[in-house]
Amino acid sequence: MKIFCTLLGCITGAKAFLAGGERISFSNPKGARSTNVRALDSTLPIDLRGKVAFVAGVADSAGYGWAIVKHLSEAGAEVCVGTWPPVLGIFEKNLKSGKLDDDLVLSSGEKMAVPKIYPLDAVYDTADDVPDDVKSNKRYAGLTGYSITEVADAIKADYGRCDILVHSLANAPEVKAPLMQVSRSGYLAAASASSYSMVSMVQRFAPIMPNGGSVLALSFVAAERFVPGYGGGMSSAKAQLESDMRVLSFEIGRQYQLRINTISAGALKSRAASAIGGAKGEKTYIEYYIDHSLANAPLTQPLEADDVGAAAAFLCSPLAKAITGVNLYVDNGLAATASSVDSRAFEGYKWGYDFPMPPYE
Ligand code: NAD
Repeated sequence: MKIFCTLLGCITGAKAFLAGGERISFSNPKGARSTNVRALDSTLPIDLRGKVAFVAGVADSAGYGWAIVKHLSEAGAEVCVGTWPPVLGIFEKNLKSGKLDDDLVLSSGEKMAVPKIYPLDAVYDTADDVPDDVKSNKRYAGLTGYSITEVADAIKADYGRCDILVHSLANAPEVKAPLMQVSRSGYLAAASASSYSMVSMVQRFAPIMPNGGSVLALSFVAAERFVPGYGGGMSSAKAQLESDMRVLSFEIGRQYQLRINTISAGALKSRAASAIGGAKGEKTYIEYYIDHSLANAPLTQPLEADDVGAAAAFLCSPLAKAITGVNLYVDNGLAATASSVDSRAFEGYKWGYDFPMPPYE
């Protein structure tokens, strides 16, 4: 205990837990100095002023992409977004009509600038890859320049560079199907839209990203462990995403002095997640999964998109300049658990200590 206090003693008034759960306070022992802990400022700002950020996968204010846009904006970055053509019209309409006005308000009370929107279909690397039936499809009609190469070129032309690249998109046409029923084309489509898209974006954006730039992609614990209901090859796509992130951390670290990380996010009732399961009027898969998380995660607070937004802003900031190749869980700790404490199998078991169980007030 003495060594513990000496090491941490320079943080006046800090609190610590004893093994039995009793909370103690300790203060700076007179004259104690540490050589490797410096006095903390009262605030530790995430300062992204002067940085240009591109967030791919934003079409409404309910998902993780929007929360990341807000936090990067709040930290001072100039943020633009990539929006999938089939949902571009409705997104632009909602922005124009003022429907999203409340969601533009930052914690300071100021409104963030409406981000510039680039149409982006991340399954196409170049304009030549777009099939004729897609070009003529009414949801793509009148649009050009939505392949990854063209978007990277447009951002270079508009801003001269991109400091922060965020991949916040996923798609799997057969997402409701268990792996035992997924077709080859469904499986490969999930990988194309949800993981190769990240590799392709990094290939094309890295050359326009200055040293110290940062890439971030959004993953899910199903990349590592079985999560029932997360089908269509999406678990495989997320596993690829995380593995590719680690490989790219070396390749773009050495070649471009860039960083790359993933956030393994907990369950959020976004538009994409709501598409998984549940007939009209029925509880959806994501609602069940959120309940599961509240019942079993170490932290019983609801997970908010802003929790991921804040972690993303940190990872993309100079504060994280030595962090690359990391998969950071932002999930109230659920990924650390291997048991479901609310399981019927545990009914009647005496744990030996008390902890709250749902419903949480
Ligand atoms: P979301 O609906 O806000 O975002 C997904 C976006 O992907 C949408 O805007 C959609 O239009 C876009 N998209 C789909 N296909 C595309 C394509 N071919 N090209 C370009 N864009 C395309 O939903 P979200 O849940 O916030 O998803 C954002 C990221 O977070 C995804 O990678 C998702 O897998 C991940 N994630 C979500 C959860 C969750 O519970 N919601 C949990 C962990 C990880």
